[in-house]
Amino acid sequence: MTGQPTAPARSVPLASLSADQLEAFLHGRREEYAVLKARGLSLDLTRGKPSSAQLDLSDALLSLPSTTKDRAGADVRNYGGLDGLVELREIFAQLLWVETEQVVCGGNSSLTMMWDVMAYLMLFGAPESPRPWAQEETVRFVCPVPGYDRHFSMLAELGVEMVNVPMNADGPDVAAVTELVRGDPSVKGIWVVPTYANPSGAVVSQEVAAALVSMPTAAPDFRIFWDNAYAFHHLTEDEAKSADALTLAAASGQANRPIMFASTSKITFAGSGVAVMAASLENKAWYLRHLSMASIGPDKVNHLRHVEFFGSPDGVRDHMRRHREILAPKFAAVDTALTAALSGLGVAEWNRPMGGYFVNLDVLDGTASRVVALAKEAGIALTPAGSSFPYRRDPRDRNIRLAPTFPVLAEVETAMAGVGTCVALAAAEKLAIGV
Ligand code: PLP
Repeated sequence: MTGQPTAPARSVPLASLSADQLEAFLHGRREEYAVLKARGLSLDLTRGKPSSAQLDLSDALLSLPSTTKDRAGADVRNYGGLDGLVELREIFAQLLWVETEQVVCGGNSSLTMMWDVMAYLMLFGAPESPRPWAQEETVRFVCPVPGYDRHFSMLAELGVEMVNVPMNADGPDVAAVTELVRGDPSVKGIWVVPTYANPSGAVVSQEVAAALVSMPTAAPDFRIFWDNAYAFHHLTEDEAKSADALTLAAASGQANRPIMFASTSKITFAGSGVAVMAASLENKAWYLRHLSMASIGPDKVNHLRHVEFFGSPDGVRDHMRRHREILAPKFAAVDTALTAALSGLGVAEWNRPMGGYFVNLDVLDGTASRVVALAKEAGIALTPAGSSFPYRRDPRDRNIRLAPTFPVLAEVETAMAGVGTCVALAAAEKLAIGV
């Protein structure tokens, strides 16, 4: 034995180490971090954007459409057709398990459609509302956490109060949600990302979906914003089928409760895709009535371009398999790097998502902000800690959303090895010296 305590094997839980061993571990991680910083990296794992290689898959769109007429002979370059080209609505109806009549195809962003629905609810109320939501003293929304930051910032902007519930592996915690909505009429809605949720990767089960669409609510105009942004974004051959929210809702007498959203932002071009909404016929008429004050029709040239490009629902499914070939190795690289750096230390947990765009990393309580700061100093940009929570407040300061889709594979590998170093260092600091 030398005077220096031996650094323990990587796989021993940090909490079980003696003070000397912990000190040695911390020393080792500091050295590793110094090497990392000296590399002068500049890598970005912040936003869930498709990579250039993914965008290239859809370049045929740039020379489409091949005609200016839709199936019925109408000129797509002109005004009209507020609910979108029927050929495209048919494709999405089949993909989302809804009726063509229930579908609206709009502009390039489903988030804009969600914002518009929310704004119409605030300004005018839903068909069943006693008054516009903005005239209520308080409007509350149930927010499964961790969740999508832009859902929460939208509500914050509108002054809607957010109430957290846990997002479980099969969807929002039904017991917590039913309890909140049962007795309080100010609770007007909930966000749900039903398939490969951002960021947890959870897939809402048919049972949870059935419970959410049928549960008694004190508000007569309760809405589920069913944001199926990752419905077709499988990372394995085991392709999850989204729960059938509209049919389940109609069957339980709550046809107007869910409003479904999706888009081709991560299928074709993130900036020039097509957004989709599906809802009961009453909700759809309500939406189009308000939209007609703002638009004389969507970009049907883009709709037709997408119809020609995909050809059919199977065309979309085949295309998504090509995305998977690019994405799956990046997600595997995240897991490999985190396993190498952190396995057995008892200071981090992460998921191996079956689809979607994110990996959810939970680090030692109280260290997420420190990890993000350490990574930043080393040239690795991560989404700010707390981003996946309303008001950016993660009560345990432990959640980090990793977005490995945009950088090339080698960069994901480098960045994630660095993230592993930062997680281990922050945990050792916390346990050894309590910072
Ligand atoms: N919904 C979720 C859950 C997302 O993660 C994203 C983008 O990251 C969006 C919506 C944005 O969709 P769009 O590009 O159609 O506006």
